[in-house]
Amino acid sequence: MRGLTKEFVRDDGERTLAVGGVDLEVPAGGFVSLVGRSGCGKTTVLRMVAGLERPTSGSVLVDDVPVVGPTPDCGFVFQGSELYEWLTVQQNIAFGLKARGVYKGHEDEVRSYIERMGLTGFENALPLHLSGGMAQRVALARALVNHPKVLLLDEPLGALDSFTRRAMQDELIGLWESEHVTMIMVTHDVDEAIHMSSQIAVMSPRPCEVVEVVDNPLRKTYEGDSPEFIEMRRHIRSLLEEGESR
Ligand code: ATP
Repeated sequence: MRGLTKEFVRDDGERTLAVGGVDLEVPAGGFVSLVGRSGCGKTTVLRMVAGLERPTSGSVLVDDVPVVGPTPDCGFVFQGSELYEWLTVQQNIAFGLKARGVYKGHEDEVRSYIERMGLTGFENALPLHLSGGMAQRVALARALVNHPKVLLLDEPLGALDSFTRRAMQDELIGLWESEHVTMIMVTHDVDEAIHMSSQIAVMSPRPCEVVEVVDNPLRKTYEGDSPEFIEMRRHIRSLLEEGESR
């Protein structure tokens, strides 16, 4: 992301500068969390990376190619997962492949994601009949089956209870390791960011800018009480506060 800004202009002329110049390099195969206060502009940043929103200025490059619209290279899972309610689990997962006309020959892959995500037996269920955690797994499978280079996650676990959330955090880490996909995840939860990501980008309040990118050697640790974990949490919180007083 290079000098990425976004100003929204409402019909009544009211202007909101949501993103005020984001420079962020996400290494290929990396897992970067964006943490910041509610309303700071994180979702807008992700939407620009996904090509769903045009930047007012600046650009997003994936492998040096500018993003000008949504592509299968970039998958996303947003909070609430927004499955197609009228399609079954199997049809939801196969949707992108069918839309691109490449489903034939990839049926096995859809089946294998159903298995990997623990959805066997629910192939023909409608989203209405799934738990929140299962719906999130369908949304993940639907994104991953297209083998995106980049997977964008916007508070993907926000709606889950703490037990399911913990399990899904580990599933996501496992997927990241096995799929070699570059992940960018928005989360409000500092402990979740420390547990899951290799780098944490702390964002300022609106207009959103990167305060600091913190390298995180504590990934995959749950020891929320270890001195290292407490120090990392303290450091990130102090950066969030620093951003607020800018
Ligand atoms: P949260 O963590 O609460 O989801 P966020 O950090 O993701 O928030 P955004 O959803 O990106 O924040 O919103 C940033 C700002 O941009 C907010 O003030 C929001 O009202 C404004 N905004 C977002 N989308 C639009 C839009 N389409 N039109 C006008 N203003 C918008």
